[in-house]
Amino acid sequence: MGGEVLIVGGGFVGLHSAYRLHELGYRVRVYAGDLSRAASWGNAGIIHQGSITAVPEVMGLLKLIRLTLRRDSYVSIRPSFALREIGPKGWLTRYVSEVRSGRIAVKARVLQRLLLESRSLWLDVIRREGIDAELNESGSIEVFASRENFEHESEFRSRESRELGYRVRVLDGDECREMEPLLSEHVVGGLYYPDDLWINPQRTVYSFADALRRRGVEVIEGFVDSVGIEDGRAYALTRNGRERPEVLLVCAGAWTRKVLRSAGLDVPVVAGRGYLAVTEPSERRLARPVICADQRVIVGQTRAGEFRLSSYFELASPEAPPDNAKFERMRRWALPVLPVLKGLGFRITWVGSRPCTPDGLPVVGKIRGTENLYVAAGHCRLGATLSAATGKIVAEMIEGKEPEVLRDLSPERFA
Ligand SMILES: Cc1cc2nc3c(=O)[nH]c(=O)nc-3n(C[C@H](O)[C@H](O)[C@H](O)COP(=O)(O)OP(=O)(O)OC[C@H]3O[C@@H](n4cnc5c(N)ncnc54)[C@H](O)[C@@H]3O)c2cc1C
Repeated sequence: MGGEVLIVGGGFVGLHSAYRLHELGYRVRVYAGDLSRAASWGNAGIIHQGSITAVPEVMGLLKLIRLTLRRDSYVSIRPSFALREIGPKGWLTRYVSEVRSGRIAVKARVLQRLLLESRSLWLDVIRREGIDAELNESGSIEVFASRENFEHESEFRSRESRELGYRVRVLDGDECREMEPLLSEHVVGGLYYPDDLWINPQRTVYSFADALRRRGVEVIEGFVDSVGIEDGRAYALTRNGRERPEVLLVCAGAWTRKVLRSAGLDVPVVAGRGYLAVTEPSERRLARPVICADQRVIVGQTRAGEFRLSSYFELASPEAPPDNAKFERMRRWALPVLPVLKGLGFRITWVGSRPCTPDGLPVVGKIRGTENLYVAAGHCRLGATLSAATGKIVAEMIEGKEPEVLRDLSPERFA
């Protein structure tokens, strides 16, 4: 078909969408914002096959409150966020009603469908475009020092994987150490996900943007000032003035709500912030990423040998300053199972924002009442993974097809 598409946001969702649209013959320009602040830059890098339970179901209301009130917890809500989002149309209010909705199975199927497709789409783009992703295809391993957590999680995952068709293997402590000799004696058991991939997100995001540029996509590291709607058609105000593309697609991650507000719309995507600390390099190597499950710290390792520790789910403004004590705490949490982290200095500390909807599903679709305004955001803790399938659906949708999965992802559900 072809035509001109302007994309707001250059995280993985924007980049995959640009890639698939360009493949279909569209002329694509991406305003990527600040890539070093994108969640796609600093995430844990696991292209995951499991984890298909949406956040409101993983963390029902009681668990959310319990975890938030606990000292030293990986979940927190900043008071200013709670005050802002607790009104009748607030995000927290919608989240609470979603927890009660009982749609867990429906949502799991939607997510799993996207997850399964994303793996091969990621491999396709990395290989075809020669993206320097530091790809690791050895799966991931989730390890437990708490026997209670291990028993609960292994039973849950075994059942879920049978129902939804992903692969997971339950391991005892010795099997975990055989696979990953850097794990300590404290590990009592683990779950091995053989089909997971790992990428170095920071490297991937820049290499992907360069690959698109080589193909003729314009990727600009700069911001769109605002978007607006005139006579049913969306436009963007940029450094080039008022741009009126045939299609305007907003993929601005946790900033999506802010961007769309400038056009008078409310799509409830907020920031579930995560922290990242990258150590100096070590000569001792992990074979694959390790998820320290008891405190939810994920540890990957770059080609250069740096360990990347990430954790936390903090509901706050994307612009709020980080709580610096949290970086060292991630190491403290991971140390009992990965003693190799001891004493390594941090080279990078970073905080970034998972884009989160109140029902835990992404929001992908056309904005009603407009001819050319689309949104693709809200992938929360699975966005690195799901971005690949999302890019494909976005391209199909703009072509005028209606992939079935869009029905569950439509922005109209928040109207
Ligand atoms: C610590 C952490 C660990 C994670 N681990 C994983 C994981 O292991 N696996 C997984 O699948 N997912 C993971 N995620 C989630 C994943 O990173 C996100 O869901 C995903 O990156 C979201 O991609 P996105 O493109 O929607 O948004 P982003 O990557 O945040 O990109 C949005 C972009 O929009 C830009 N922007 C904003 N406003 C404007 C504007 N006005 N004009 C132009 N551009 C604008 C921003 O600068 C940014 O570049 C993790 C997230 C975090 C924070």
